[in-house]
Amino acid sequence: MSIGYESVIGLEIHVQLGTRTKMFCGCELSFGDPPNTHTCPVCLGLPGALPVLNARAVHFGLMIGLALDGEIATRSIFHRKNYFYPDLPKGYQISQYDVPLCAGGRLGDVRIHRVHLEEDAAKLVHVGQSGRIHGSDRSVVDFNRGGTPLVEIVTEPDLCSPEQAREWLTLLRATLKALGVSDVNMEEGSLRCDANVSVRPAGRTELGTKTELKNMNSFRYLERGVRAEIERQVGLLGAGESVVQQTLHFDPGSGRLTPLRSKEEAHDYRYFPEPDLVPLVATEEMLAAARGALPELPARRAERFVHDLGLGGERAHELAFRTELGDYFERMLAAGGPQAAGGGSPDPVALANWIPQLVERLGSDADPARSRVTPESLAALVAMVSAREISHDAAREVLSRLVAEGGDPGTIAEREGLGALGGQDDGLAELVARAITSDPSAAEQVRAGNRRAIGPLVGYVMRECKGRADGGEVTRLILELLAPSP
Ligand code: ADP
Ligand code: ZN
Ligand code: MG
Repeated sequence: MSIGYESVIGLEIHVQLGTRTKMFCGCELSFGDPPNTHTCPVCLGLPGALPVLNARAVHFGLMIGLALDGEIATRSIFHRKNYFYPDLPKGYQISQYDVPLCAGGRLGDVRIHRVHLEEDAAKLVHVGQSGRIHGSDRSVVDFNRGGTPLVEIVTEPDLCSPEQAREWLTLLRATLKALGVSDVNMEEGSLRCDANVSVRPAGRTELGTKTELKNMNSFRYLERGVRAEIERQVGLLGAGESVVQQTLHFDPGSGRLTPLRSKEEAHDYRYFPEPDLVPLVATEEMLAAARGALPELPARRAERFVHDLGLGGERAHELAFRTELGDYFERMLAAGGPQAAGGGSPDPVALANWIPQLVERLGSDADPARSRVTPESLAALVAMVSAREISHDAAREVLSRLVAEGGDPGTIAEREGLGALGGQDDGLAELVARAITSDPSAAEQVRAGNRRAIGPLVGYVMRECKGRADGGEVTRLILELLAPSP
């Protein structure tokens, strides 16, 4: 972004709740079942059918509201949000409007505006010879999704960069995952995110005109789409034009933003209270049950990693905001490992440092628990490094073997001859001697007291032993020969 402007971003997130049945009827939720096999008069919107609120969905909604530190409404109500579309058989969506389940709150650095309950629409499937989504020949409707319980989370416009938006959504996703209220799978649509974006001259307090990017269905697209939109808006303002309030679609393929509708075309939803549902009253019992069901949340977990285990803030976030990495780390801790300097417990920092190396080899989105590398074997490898039984380079090599074939790091190191050279090892002493004869001028300089000339000699040894020696030990051996301390 060019100097002089700052960006402002607010997110609206829809979360499909992982209940057994739909929001207002007894139809089971399903993924991938044959179309229109989970329907009934209620979710098909047949005349005279009456909705009944799903208690489990309310429980999950309360858990989310509490986890986000919001104020739970003791009495909230449902409205009809009217619009006509083929995926909405009733002609309206039941949603909460002026009195949501939860108002206010905060997650990390971002304030929450509200959290409310609603139902999902059915799914339109566009088919045709062309295979194109837009302008296809025929559209059909699968009502299985219609009536799925949703929670909508709306943030205040507190985010100020595409990276921060992505990072924060990662935290929200981890939080929802820890709560166990949803699959939170962006590709499958159980977590969907719209981004509201505006820019303003730096330092200005009033907000610029915003646009809304619909349905960013991955973290990467969210970041890219928001970045593209910020650039577009800065370009407009820089050229003396103004931003038009509109809804946009980001096409990740072309990187282009195309308008879906402008403010003038915005729906008038004619909200009115749903006459078929009584107000939702959250009793003390319901609140206590929701509170009691809250696990340790990722933000708290990150704090614990920092304060109790001594991890750096960034590493703590990296592990805690991805539940599967945090879990893997804790299993490594439980498995034991290297001894911390002062005491008998494993050194958490050393253990944590190896997880990104593992993830890098597995692919950035992989769950290491599903790999061949058990937390116990990785902890054992880290222990070998800490005990100097193996060098860093060799340990990286062993890790690659573990990823490919699993097994025990000690056995692999022995089999591949990757154990550390050092201590009483004659091989290492011999290599050191060879290094000195191979580079007499460096040796001479070290003898003359120029410590920095030792670099090429250490490099020679490390090269010859393929990184199996400990650099500090090699340095010590060379100095012992060339510059023995008096
Ligand atoms: P609307 O009435 O268009 O739905 P809201 O005021 O309800 O707009 O806000 C919807 C979302 O847009 C919220 O997440 C809010 O934080 C965000 N938002 C509102 N105004 C701006 C703005 N000027 N720039 C960026 N985001 C904004
Ligand atoms: Zn139904
Ligand atoms: Mg909405």
